[in-house]
Amino acid sequence: MNKREFIKTSILAGMASTLSGPKSFGSNLEKEKVKHWVWINPDENESEEELARKYKSYKAAGIHGIFFEEDVKKHFVIARENGIEAHRWIWTLNRGEKELLNTHPEWYAVNREGNSCADKPPYVNYYRWLCPSRPEVHQYMEDQVRQVLDKEYVDGIHLDYVRYCDVILPVNLWDKYKIVQTSELPEYDFCYCDNCRSGFKELKGYDPLDIQYPGQSLSFRNFRYDNVTRLVNRLAKVAASYHKSISAAVFPTPEVARRIVRQDWTNWNLNAVCPMIYHGFYREDIAWIGDAVKEGMRWLCGKFPLYAGLFLPDFKSNEELEKGIEYALNNGASGVSLFGKVNDDVLDVLKTATY
Ligand SMILES: [Zn+2]
Repeated sequence: MNKREFIKTSILAGMASTLSGPKSFGSNLEKEKVKHWVWINPDENESEEELARKYKSYKAAGIHGIFFEEDVKKHFVIARENGIEAHRWIWTLNRGEKELLNTHPEWYAVNREGNSCADKPPYVNYYRWLCPSRPEVHQYMEDQVRQVLDKEYVDGIHLDYVRYCDVILPVNLWDKYKIVQTSELPEYDFCYCDNCRSGFKELKGYDPLDIQYPGQSLSFRNFRYDNVTRLVNRLAKVAASYHKSISAAVFPTPEVARRIVRQDWTNWNLNAVCPMIYHGFYREDIAWIGDAVKEGMRWLCGKFPLYAGLFLPDFKSNEELEKGIEYALNNGASGVSLFGKVNDDVLDVLKTATY
């Protein structure tokens, strides 16, 4: 490298390190670094022309990537042609496929009353949780992820439902399901299958069913966090072997995620995380979006970027949405991830939000 090149490189390197320091949003340069995402269930019937128009407008509004819930190739291809990353969004531990239910009912999680998700799902019929302590389940999920990442038009894998069944539902759902969950009720507390019971006994010397106050057992909580973390980190290795990225949709803050779904996401080896900071579910206001992002950022210690998941139906106006995005970005989020209908109004907010 000659001297001139060296100076040029040093200046650029210096600039980069300044920019990657604490975020003070406001300059155009900072705004360009912000990346937004969208969760989409792709419609087979949309024409290629419609998709091209739509994804071009997404890109212009600052949308960097899309999580597609189904494998509809034209959506992936056209998104990528428009400069948008196309990731496949999968349901991880909540797996209701008939074949699996029929061939391996023993892989399904069992509650503290001895009932299995295979035949007695909690809350809703689609809650068919696999037990994350089982090596066969880890292998099954690895195979699923490989099948997704084998496709050249898929840029990454996005894990949803990567947790235990909700032992406590978000408070806004209590009225809907007519259940008051001020304590951990046995029918929603998982998993006490044979594999979990023997695995925990081997570790600690006693059966989790013998714990006097199960909701207070720190060791049984850790055991469950670790089962999910081991699975995620195995899938992360698989994604890395493909040189593709892995991310997850998780509960809104590290504390809430551990407490109500045994999800210890700050200890996962991801490339990015999208906490579902759905304020309405928790009867919180827009400002809480900022609090939740701040908590996540503190626990992550810069390990990977956080994109604040926002639930569009909970915003009553464009101004509210703009505020929500602002709270997320000003507290350290690298962008937002939107769930719900992304119409022209939403795209305008993304373009004009001031941060
Ligand atoms: Zn189990």
